[in-house]
Amino acid sequence: MVALWDSFGRVATDLRVSLTDRCNLRCTYCMPVEGLAWLPREETLTDEEVLRLVRIAVTRLGVTEVRLTGGEPTVRPGLVGLVARLVALRPRPQVSMTTNGTSLARLAGALRAAGLERVNVSLDTLRADRYLAITHRDRLADACAGLAAAAAAGLAPVKVNAVLLRDVNDDEAAALLRWCLERGYPLRFIEQMPLDPQHSWDRGVMVTGAEILARLRSEFTLTALPGRGSAPAELFAVDGGPDTVGVIGSVTAPFCAACDRVRLTADGQVRSCLFAREETDLRTPMRAGADDAHLAQLWAAAVRGKRAGHGIDDPAFAQPARPMSAIGG
Ligand code: SAM
Ligand code: SF4
Repeated sequence: MVALWDSFGRVATDLRVSLTDRCNLRCTYCMPVEGLAWLPREETLTDEEVLRLVRIAVTRLGVTEVRLTGGEPTVRPGLVGLVARLVALRPRPQVSMTTNGTSLARLAGALRAAGLERVNVSLDTLRADRYLAITHRDRLADACAGLAAAAAAGLAPVKVNAVLLRDVNDDEAAALLRWCLERGYPLRFIEQMPLDPQHSWDRGVMVTGAEILARLRSEFTLTALPGRGSAPAELFAVDGGPDTVGVIGSVTAPFCAACDRVRLTADGQVRSCLFAREETDLRTPMRAGADDAHLAQLWAAAVRGKRAGHGIDDPAFAQPARPMSAIGG
């Protein structure tokens, strides 16, 4: 087994697999309203190819966790069958998914039965008009129904991810936390990152982790919990615990030094970081007949060159050419 270590001593064990670059929503910070030039079908990895690469990752490269993402993973045909085959790999990886939740009312039971363990559902607002403004789709009720279905199906935990946007939904931090606490969904706020397709991200306008905490503290008592480890969220006990809330300060408090992630895009490119400017193509050599050992070698070399950090604060920082939906969040 060759571990996916990099030159800064970090070891990647958490693989994010983007199953598609397509999505049924158009969140302003992720995808243009007109959509993108989707990857041609022939460039998207087939189920067999996804399985082969994940098998290489878990049997040869020390990956223990696989998170399915996108785009929106639930728009991929055959998702349930793919999950069943992923959990049948040995050693068995922990398989989870990040989704906007709008299809979970239909899919949660089958996904749980197939072996999916946990979900993170993205929900930025509890107001239908704002949901429409942020996602360009009138699907708030579907996302909420999806969350309830996920919990009822036994997916655990069912976490909620929220991005706050200034003057759009930044007054909802406490309301979102109350709503999630009432339903038993651990909530994590994510600082908006420069991965929007319009390249209009502005650090001065971004809602910072410190602001989010200040807003939450107007209604809750928060106590910082130690032991963040490789988890990106700083966790706080709410009103003395045991409930917690997380803040992922990707920009103002980056967790790069403890990062244990590696990404595989829907078209078979390895990215060592969301903000990496380089990708390593595994699809072309795989389709040209490369054996597992060679693909593992290419993968390991891709991670070895991982940079120390995302460099958002570096004056030379350049946003990746692909937006979040195409990289896999
Ligand atoms: N479609 C799924 C979803 O929305 O959960 C999975 C893919 S989405 C790219 C994964 C996560 O990335 C979501 O929680 C979303 O809010 C977050 N995200 C997308 N663009 C972002 C950005 N520019 N900054 C911070 N988070 C972002
Ligand atoms: Fe789609 Fe998720 Fe991006 Fe929203 S954040 S547009 S739901 S991929």
